[in-house]
Amino acid sequence: MKAQLLTAAHRALALTEVDPPRPGPGEVLIAVKACAVCRTDLHIVDGELTQPKLPLVPGHEIVGTVVEKGIEVDRFQLGDRVGVPWLGWTCGVCDYCRSGRENLCDRARFTGYQIDGGYAELTVADQRYCFPIPAEFADVAAAPLLCAGLIGYRTFRFAGEGERIGIYGFGAAAHIVAQVARFQGRQVFAFTKPGDRAAQDFARGLGAVWAGGSDEKPPEPLDAALIFAPVGVLVPAALAATRKGGTVVCGGIHMSDIPSFPYALLWEERVIRSVANLTRRDAEEFLALAPRAGITTTTRPYRLAEANQALADLREGRLEGAAVLVP
Ligand SMILES: [Zn+2]
Ligand SMILES: [Zn+2]
Repeated sequence: MKAQLLTAAHRALALTEVDPPRPGPGEVLIAVKACAVCRTDLHIVDGELTQPKLPLVPGHEIVGTVVEKGIEVDRFQLGDRVGVPWLGWTCGVCDYCRSGRENLCDRARFTGYQIDGGYAELTVADQRYCFPIPAEFADVAAAPLLCAGLIGYRTFRFAGEGERIGIYGFGAAAHIVAQVARFQGRQVFAFTKPGDRAAQDFARGLGAVWAGGSDEKPPEPLDAALIFAPVGVLVPAALAATRKGGTVVCGGIHMSDIPSFPYALLWEERVIRSVANLTRRDAEEFLALAPRAGITTTTRPYRLAEANQALADLREGRLEGAAVLVP
């Protein structure tokens, strides 16, 4: 089969003919129909996440069809359409797993990082970490739900119940979360790179009541702010835009250093927190919510052979919504 391989950090992916993977016990072999490109993939290629298996098939927003079952597979049938997210395996016995926080599992393994992912024609996944995809979504449209949607949703949940939600970095995650927020009757304030009119128009088109540069103050103080851009300087900026008792949630896996800032920005019970990974419960909740909320995704398809181009377009901010590889 054809796969895009990362052999070392800072190196372009190489389209390579490799032996097809075989499903072990409890695993399914999946014919990949679509795999979205996540900023985390860029952090892996760029060496900012330092523990990938090598060589690695990246990709953790996979939609495909079950074409072979390992022994003991009982959740899916041949031909079933499934999605595979970032969380690929957890131990089930550590304190985190036993307290509903498997996203923090001490021995967790992640798709497209420690487990080969979806930048390929075929992939193998543990059936316990695969999810049926709602029929409302075509393959390409569904792919960004698997990380931008799931981890975006987890990030949004930690915003609390407030009405005015700021979103810093209006990419794949934000464009889905904004629709969830609007569905719940909240107001979205979108912050983009200063002067990025196209991204601001995109945000308004998805229902943002205000869109401006990340160097601007919103017209009203925010109840909570979500940061999806990997830019540490946005943390004090978001705190300054957030009212007393508000929360700033960092949704990314990697961020540049956060500059020091006056304690007054944090005081009055403002909270900064991060979000790490996802739980299977997040996936079940979000995939049930997405069709009810009428979520639509904005995607740009690329052939599998164009993975490096897709990564470059994401890096340079040339995308609206999500890039999706189609083998
Ligand atoms: Zn565990
Ligand atoms: Zn991701």
